[in-house]
Amino acid sequence: MPISKGAKPVDINSRKIINGADADVMQLYPMKHHFAWEYYLASNANHWLPTEISMQKDVEQWKSTSGVLTADERQALETVLGFFTTADSIAANNVVLAVYKHITSPEVRMYLLRQGYEEAIHTHAYQYIVESLGMDESKIFNKYREIESIYNKDNMILSFNEGIFDPHFKTGTFENDQKFLENIVVFSLIMEGIFFYSSFAVMFGFQRQNKMVGSAEQIQYIMRDESMHLNFGIQLVNTIKEEQPELWTPEFQQRIIDLVKRAVVLEYTFAKEVFPKGIFGMNAEGFKAYIEHIADRRLNSIGLPSQYNTENPFGWMSEAIDLNKEKNFFETRVTEYKTGGTLNW
Ligand code: FE
Repeated sequence: MPISKGAKPVDINSRKIINGADADVMQLYPMKHHFAWEYYLASNANHWLPTEISMQKDVEQWKSTSGVLTADERQALETVLGFFTTADSIAANNVVLAVYKHITSPEVRMYLLRQGYEEAIHTHAYQYIVESLGMDESKIFNKYREIESIYNKDNMILSFNEGIFDPHFKTGTFENDQKFLENIVVFSLIMEGIFFYSSFAVMFGFQRQNKMVGSAEQIQYIMRDESMHLNFGIQLVNTIKEEQPELWTPEFQQRIIDLVKRAVVLEYTFAKEVFPKGIFGMNAEGFKAYIEHIADRRLNSIGLPSQYNTENPFGWMSEAIDLNKEKNFFETRVTEYKTGGTLNW
């Protein structure tokens, strides 16, 4: 849309996450969605690169023939990488090709640009792990087509591409705005908020055994970024709900609950099938309870009721997530980008 010359400054009240005034996507001020700007600043302060983390010990352990790693552990690492390696590309494509163009808040767009870059850093991290350990790259990166339970998770997510990925899709109708909102839920709450978590737990299992600590640290940084992406997605959903309350119908809420329940089954089925004997003391039952527990938290975060009320069997995961600077999360860092004091995430 052409800029109209000499027009009055943008009316802040017309600024919305979607369906805002057409001409204001270039103008950061007057800013309305301050949370987005805060996320943008915080994520810059958390900047990191995979190459800053030493993989030396991992290389020694991975190549060692004296049984440092069991056969199950080796397979577990390859399998979680098989999921991770394509997951962030799926997330990046959604941010850049589907979500961004429909967003009419420039401050929200600022964070999405940063988020897109972070997804690239994550794919880089997996590439760096696979390359450092001398794994067969094409084998690992192709696992999402070969392991059925990974394929099923990705396929659920990608099936939503038919909606807002369509070049003719436009927000502004009741049906399409709900579709857009559904996309945010699927990608943020389900992909970034549920489908990563069994694999995160396995990586922390390695870390707790003092095994593959470089790889685990890479994943720890990724988990910190992902938890920002998730919380940003939650804010987007809750803000759109405030701006367009008519979208949040009882039928729509039920649709979201059903999607989350479908995702929970896919995620614990993945854990059960790829770790048939369990791993690091986590068994199928534990994964199921853990996934149900976090799914309830995701639902609650957008005002929907718990469906499972399961206790968290992996309490140490919350500790890992709540890790802050005092716990020396950064002690192995080569470079310190952090300049402020906002490392709690
Ligand atoms: Fe992400």
